[in-house]
This record gives sequence, structure tokens and C-alpha cells, in this order.
Amino acid sequence: MATDDLRVLTSDSHAGPGDAGRTGSWRVLRPVIDYAKCAPAKSGKPSCFYCWLYCPDTVVSKTLQPQIDLTYCKGCGICAEECPPGAITMVEESKFSDEDNR
Ligand code: SF4
Ligand code: SF4
Repeated sequence: MATDDLRVLTSDSHAGPGDAGRTGSWRVLRPVIDYAKCAPAKSGKPSCFYCWLYCPDTVVSKTLQPQIDLTYCKGCGICAEECPPGAITMVEESKFSDEDNR
């Protein structure tokens, strides 16, 4: 078989924080991480990071205590859905004070 027959066309894109503007202003629900349930925070070892992996806006840090950049988190809730131990809760934005909002 000729090499040309094996060529496959692919596309590749990488989202980045802010690619769609300050999407934090869209948020109705805010993800809140309970570090007492979060696997890397509990163990002190890098593990899991599903929230980092699945966030479509790449606004979760891959750190032992994952941090969410609320400037760009649009509150889609995917991280909460994917978190194996259920450490992320989506909380109504109205529950936070103005000082909490960014
Ligand atoms: S998906 Fe849940 S348990 Fe895993 S790193 Fe994120 S917050 Fe922690
Ligand atoms: S709710 Fe979670 S998955 Fe959605 S943008 Fe915010 S941090 Fe990312």
C-alpha cells in the first residue's frame, strides 16, 4: 500500500482562558471545591485532576488544591459532573457577596 493511502486529515484546536472573553460574567452557578473530598488535596499527591482535564475553558489549575479562575469560569458545571468523589458543588452566585464576585 502506498504511503499516500495512509494519510489522514485531522484538525486540532486548543482552548485557552479568555478565548471567548471574560466568560465569568455568564456564570449563574459557581463551582466550589471541598478540599476535604478532593483526592490530590487529601493525599498530597498529584492524582485525578478530572476537573482540570474536562474544563472546556481550561480555567482549573493542576495543583494539589485545584484553583478555579472565576474571571473565566462560565459555570457550566462539567467539572462538578466529572469529579469522581463529588468534591465540587455548584452554588448559586446570589449566595456570594459582591466582594466574592470577580
Ligand atoms: S476532579 Fe474532584 S477530586 Fe479530582 S482533582 Fe478535581 S476537585 Fe479534586
Ligand atoms: S464550571 Fe467547572 S468546567 Fe465549567 S468553566 Fe467553570 S471550572 Fe470549567
